This record gives sequence, structure tokens and C-alpha cells, in this order.
Amino acid sequence: MMRPLTVLTVHPEFILAYAKFGVFKAARERKLAEVTALNLRDFAVDKHGSVDDRPFGGGDGMVMRPEPLTAALAAVSGEPRVIYTSPAGKPWTHAEAERLAAGKEPLVFVCGRFAGVDQRFLDKKVHEQYSLGDFVLSGGELAALAMIDSILRFVPGVLGHQESALKDSFADGCAGGLEHPLYTRPPEWEGMKVPEVLMGGDHEKIAAWRREEAKRRTAELRPDLMKR
Ligand code: SAH
Repeated sequence: MMRPLTVLTVHPEFILAYAKFGVFKAARERKLAEVTALNLRDFAVDKHGSVDDRPFGGGDGMVMRPEPLTAALAAVSGEPRVIYTSPAGKPWTHAEAERLAAGKEPLVFVCGRFAGVDQRFLDKKVHEQYSLGDFVLSGGELAALAMIDSILRFVPGVLGHQESALKDSFADGCAGGLEHPLYTRPPEWEGMKVPEVLMGGDHEKIAAWRREEAKRRTAELRPDLMKR
């Protein structure tokens, strides 16, 4: 069944451009999930396409009004899980991507712009808020695309055979840590050789080396991910 993922945004072009490629395209072509965008300006409060207004209490920046967001949400069929991309949200992680991928309900991603979104809409209509990290983006589109991309990787059938989301960093295949280092041709480059073991063809030895290297790398670069 084709799972609908809908992005509410004032810049649908961002979403549609990115959705032409990669896992977005694969998911659509394999009829697993379809990413679409609704233009909030089509649900504006006036003929000029207004979706925002000045903040009560004063201050810089415009705030997104609740009505266009609510009207756009009403245009989404089914009972979607509504996600708001926000610096105030829970940190987006591998585990959240896997969890949302396992669900069957339609997903809606609300992209804020300007100073943000009227709190009443967030309180009443949004189920979950996620942040991409401790920095501020000028809009939620990049965050929504990053979240959707990482979700689609966990939808069975979206990725090809060789690439398995279950073997990548943070997954069980890496014991929750980082992936081992990767090498390809040429065997020697700028005086640097590919580790001997990888050239030998002993699959057991290679697997053991990769496990060891993954552990070493995780301990060095992300000690917070060790022993999970
Ligand atoms: N005034 C807000 C920032 C607004 S940025 C504040 O100080 O917290 C405009 C929009 O970009 C937000 O409404 C949100 O949807 C999106 N955004 C910004 N930073 C983000 C982040 N780290 N993660 C996810 N979305 C983010």
C-alpha cells in the first residue's frame, strides 16, 4: 500500500525538486510511499496569499497563522500523524526514523517559516515535534526532507539489496555505533594502501576486521554511542 507523506510548506518546490531523486523516487516507483507537498498559500486567509501576521505582544518577524495550516491539514485524507519540525522538538534520531517507518498511518510534516508558528496550532493539531539539531534553519523544509529521507530508508523495499539500512551506522548491524571505514579502487592512492585484509578475500577475517574497526572508530569519534 502506498503510504502518503505530505509536507505543508510555503515552498513546495523545495520538496518536489528533492523528491525527484533517490529514495523518494524509489519509494514512489515501487508504490511504497509517496511524498507530496501542499502549498500553504493555496489555503491563505486572503486573495494575496497571506499565511502569516505580526506577533501579538510585538517583536521582529512574522508568525504563521493557524487557519491556513488547519485548512491544509483538512485537505489531507485519512488520519495523519502530524509532525512539526522545530528547534524545540525532540532530537531526530535513527530510532525515531525506524519507529515512524514502521507505522502505517499517513504522515504530515509541518514546515515553519519566518519566526515560527502560532502556538495554538501546535498545541491542538501537532502530535510530535522533532529538531534536526541545536541550530536554527530559516524554514522546516530541509528538516522535513532529512526526516523523510531517513524514514524512507527503513521502509522495506525502498533500498536496493546491497545497501541495507540495518547495516549502516546507528543500526543493530553496527551495535548502535558507527560503520567501519570503506575503501574502493585504486588499491594504492597517493602512497596510501587499502588495508591488506580487505584484498585477501577471507570473508570471516574481513567481517572480524570490520567489527573491530567499527568499534575503534565509534570509541574514537562517538564515545557516547559505545556499549549499547
Ligand atoms: N523563532 C524560532 C525559529 C524559527 S526558524 C526559534 O527561535 O526557535 C523557522 C522554522 O524553521 C521553524 O518554525 C521550524 O519549522 C524550522 N526550523 C528551524 N530550525 C530547525 C531545527 N533545528 N530543526 C527542525 N526545524 C527547524
